Amino acid sequence: MRVIVTGGAGFIGSALVRHLVRERGWDILNFDKLTYAANLQSLSAVSENANYRFVQADICDAGAVNRIFADFHPDAVMHLAAESHVDRSISSSAEFIKTNILGTHVLLEAGRQYWSDLPSERRNAFRFLHVSTDEVYGSLADGSFFTESTAYDPRSPYSASKASSDHLVSAWRATYGLPTLITNCSNNYGPHQFPEKLIPLVLLNALEKKPLPVYGDGRNVRDWLYVEDHVKALTAVLERGRIGETYNIGGRAPTENIAVVERICDALDALAPNGETRRSLITFVQDRPGHDRRYAIDPTKIETELGWHAEKTFDTGIAATVEWYLNNEWWWRPLRDDVYSGTRLGLLENSARADRHLSENSV
Ligand code: NAD
Repeated sequence: MRVIVTGGAGFIGSALVRHLVRERGWDILNFDKLTYAANLQSLSAVSENANYRFVQADICDAGAVNRIFADFHPDAVMHLAAESHVDRSISSSAEFIKTNILGTHVLLEAGRQYWSDLPSERRNAFRFLHVSTDEVYGSLADGSFFTESTAYDPRSPYSASKASSDHLVSAWRATYGLPTLITNCSNNYGPHQFPEKLIPLVLLNALEKKPLPVYGDGRNVRDWLYVEDHVKALTAVLERGRIGETYNIGGRAPTENIAVVERICDALDALAPNGETRRSLITFVQDRPGHDRRYAIDPTKIETELGWHAEKTFDTGIAATVEWYLNNEWWWRPLRDDVYSGTRLGLLENSARADRHLSENSV
């Protein structure tokens, strides 16, 4: 298999590339713009492999995207490149609209052109897998779960941009027959996650004895999935998923944010005791605007149709994650010192200014 992975220097993309290069031996082309969220250090385990190559380019650049298709001759595209942080989308939405919507459109058009020129056998085998999020479904009532037929109701700039891209992908299937697949996955965590997201942010703040910010009352629920389980699910969908279908991916682990933070504290106290209890650092802060209350995935379809199941429980996944961050300061220290130190993002006071600044700079 020859596969273009977009966003392969990000958190999930790099886990996917490592998996496909090492475990599957596929030829992988990592197509990534290298935004603040990218880190080529996450690919050091595969960067010398003959079946791995990297191209730095923007998915919004149609010329670059067309060249990659023409030069690499892929059998599939796994599309993960995106702006991915909800809080940043509240402060400044323009890049989300550009990359997540317009970039996906560029990729679909280039993919369609390339696919329609393929000889019939390769055309039949070609796949375009679009990686999306459960956040497109909006906020759930207690006791209910997202299925593949849940109506879209995105409520943040991030989830609205991902919902738009999902609709584009479905339209390219219906209108042009492009062999697409869509996955909607719950919140991921694990090694190599940029420390703006809840779990690494809390973990690193706790190590540095800084306050552990919990939004609102801490009772918002997210359904956590270990990243290596996610990449195995994506591989299963690419290989065995039915064309045109959507697959929800989740680890059956809906957990309140406050419980997530407490578990990280307890795991750190056990693995790296410092004579204090880290729970004392927990600090409730102003809630995120429009904060969805509950996400929970019903993964029955992918489990029964494709035989995929999450292998890690939340407890084993958190323990592995805490251990990884403890042992890999070389990876996260430069990010904390030079890229993002953990300051609060996504409050409304700053958002008008941030977007005005961006649009002034983009004309
Ligand atoms: P990430 O922010 O860690 O990585 C995104 C990657 O995309 C980065 O390497 C970045 O450089 C690249 N990128 C951004 N804009 C680009 C552009 N214009 N051209 C080329 N590359 C570009 O994101 P992640 O957490 O790894 O998420 C990957 C995908 O999975 C996203 O599409 C996201 O919506 C989806 N997803 C994420 C989660 C999660 O919990 N993190 C859950 C479900 C779905």
